[in-house]
Amino acid sequence: MDKNKKRQLVFDIIITVLVVLVIVLIDFFVVSLRSSSGDFKEEVLQADQSQSINSPENSIITKDLEQIKPGEKVFIPILNFHHIDKVPANVSKTTASYYIEPNDFEMIMQNLIAYNYQTVFLSEVIDLLEQGIKPPDNWLVLTFDDGNINYYTNAWPILQKYNLKSSIYIMTGVGGENYLSDEQIKELSESSLVEVGSHTIYHPKLTQISKPERLKELEISKDELEELLNTDITILSYPFGLYNQEIKDLAKAVGYKAGLTFDQDAWQDPQDLFELKRISVWPQMNVVKFLEKLKN
Ligand SMILES: [Zn+2]
Repeated sequence: MDKNKKRQLVFDIIITVLVVLVIVLIDFFVVSLRSSSGDFKEEVLQADQSQSINSPENSIITKDLEQIKPGEKVFIPILNFHHIDKVPANVSKTTASYYIEPNDFEMIMQNLIAYNYQTVFLSEVIDLLEQGIKPPDNWLVLTFDDGNINYYTNAWPILQKYNLKSSIYIMTGVGGENYLSDEQIKELSESSLVEVGSHTIYHPKLTQISKPERLKELEISKDELEELLNTDITILSYPFGLYNQEIKDLAKAVGYKAGLTFDQDAWQDPQDLFELKRISVWPQMNVVKFLEKLKN
């Protein structure tokens, strides 16, 4: 290579390096300009917001929710189930109506999801109602009475599969192989998908026993569950759905925040949390259709 050609090559290399450097500098300048502009900031803000909506600890964004007007009823469907299992042979029609087959139960859950219902704990509903705030339209509560073992064997796997919250109401003095064990209740309670409430000690007709017995049923069942689970038990499901004003007052005095009846409705009186209405789900029931009809 002669001297001139060598010089030309060195010159070309220097020019190329300079051009690349200028391009990199321009690029850097443009990016830093964009990041200080409003648009870019808004993008970041939106990303942050969507993240906080999805995170479980901030699942309730109360600022966008309406206040409840005086005297206004609110639509909060609380579904009630007893057995998720095949109907046993030779049972009465009434007993059979307490059974939903696991496949049917799964279809009901899929249907609720398809119609955008969101399962929440009753305590989440109560938190809002106590602040006079109307819960979102799509909130729905799943409740299971009696602590039957088939909740654990049949309902729980389906509820876990779809990440659905539910509440179970336990009788602390009734046990055996057909019922959830203390270990199972503990495991469920720790899962973050299950909320536990009281269904008294022995499931009596509260309206037909003596006053001291009534007090015991409400108070001791609460204490025992609180000791087992190391958490506040604030919701009572009245056995047979039976209640009166005295029972409601007693439940409040003992420290419950709400009582669940079998009065078939979803329109709730936010001023009376000790008379919450529920909808018993029966076999072949089209729950979504039923709720839509009830709502309008
Ligand atoms: Zn019961």
